[in-house]
Amino acid sequence: MSEMTAPEVVFRDGLAAGELRFQRCRKCSAAVFQPRVLCPACGSDDLSWQRSSGLGSVYSTTAVRTREGAHNVALVDLDEGFRMMSRVEGVDRVIIGMRVRLAVVEQDGQPVAVFREAMS
Ligand SMILES: [Zn+2]
Repeated sequence: MSEMTAPEVVFRDGLAAGELRFQRCRKCSAAVFQPRVLCPACGSDDLSWQRSSGLGSVYSTTAVRTREGAHNVALVDLDEGFRMMSRVEGVDRVIIGMRVRLAVVEQDGQPVAVFREAMS
């Protein structure tokens, strides 16, 4: 995880390896996501990469209907303190506060982070 590599590339390489990577600001300790060059909280460029446990809770969810059927878009609060947009698979109904765990699936040849209900 070289400091010189573009943040999106480090993130994508992590997903390909089954890891959800995020950044933590060394100056103000904010958890940073999406991957970026500067901390959105304090403007520092001193960001370190960390690996998320992949565990979190559903913050909000919306049903989206397309020609292919219905799926959900969910905002998930990861336990490390950042929020990401994703979807929850394998459940009939997504419930706010539901505990979820990361799963990396392939979509159009690219690794994509989705979530499934955490059973533990
Ligand atoms: Zn900061």
